Amino acid sequence: MQKQLTNSEGHGKKLSQSSISPEDFAILMRVAETFRKGKPYTFFEVIQPFNEVRLSADLPANMSVQQLVERLDFLVHSNLLRSRFSRKLLRCPKCGGALLNPRTACTSCRSEDITKSLILMHSCGAVIPENVVKTLVVCPKCRDTLEKSSNTAGFRFVCNTCGNIFTEPLCLTECFSCGWFDELKNADQMILREYELTDQGLSLIESADPLKILIRKLVSDGFEIREKVEVTGLSGTKHLLDVVATSSEKSETRIYTVKYRVTSLDIVSWTVKRFDIEKTSIQGVVGRVRWFIAGVEVENAAFKTGETFGIEVEKI
Ligand SMILES: [Zn+2]
Ligand SMILES: [Zn+2]
Ligand SMILES: [Zn+2]
Repeated sequence: MQKQLTNSEGHGKKLSQSSISPEDFAILMRVAETFRKGKPYTFFEVIQPFNEVRLSADLPANMSVQQLVERLDFLVHSNLLRSRFSRKLLRCPKCGGALLNPRTACTSCRSEDITKSLILMHSCGAVIPENVVKTLVVCPKCRDTLEKSSNTAGFRFVCNTCGNIFTEPLCLTECFSCGWFDELKNADQMILREYELTDQGLSLIESADPLKILIRKLVSDGFEIREKVEVTGLSGTKHLLDVVATSSEKSETRIYTVKYRVTSLDIVSWTVKRFDIEKTSIQGVVGRVRWFIAGVEVENAAFKTGETFGIEVEKI
């Protein structure tokens, strides 16, 4: 059985949905970050010492590994992402454990009592383990003397239980967690892939980037824009303000944080930042200061939360 973390089929949940969701957009944005630096993106981190697979990115709505895999499959299927093999982990098919203890055994009797030994090849073709040679006077096969025409034929495995001599041992494995014991080839394979944007994915990101949409809108409303403004908070923490927009008549300054989808939680964390920022410490601030959070999609509860915290919520 092979478990793939991508390109898998029959996950239960349909992938037939044709429009991309805010979650899909967040996934594409994540890939875009490294894509711009010329690197593929991998969503999975393998944590040692237990080979545990975790999501390496904080993705929206507490997406599980399984849900992420489904969305990635869908995005690859929709030709917005392409993927390639990154690495593989072997898993216990019984409990999913990733700590497998490898063992080698005799191909004939499966005994683990095998020794790697230098092998002598007699002129008649008989193979004799080196340690056995000392105890022999004549070749056990042709009965001729051994010194005459023996030469070494490299290493082989010798079974101390049944005497079998073989080149490749049987690979067995045992699961540390549940004790499952079988041939290694019967372990589940978990394949981790890495992702890149396709041309189609890239153009979607560029046309749908909420920050770009917001800026176009503010510019056409006559605002002067500064992007990614760095400011040091009262706590000493550095904050990056997505957009600082000043009205043409210099009567107000809008400070924006921009998300694809705005949730109540985003407002709470924006509020925490806001309390850490002394507005006079932001360069070029004039007039009345208004704090905004903007997104293409806004969770219903977010408007009310915004009101509570004095943050204006704007749907782009
Ligand atoms: Zn011989
Ligand atoms: Zn054996
Ligand atoms: Zn197991």
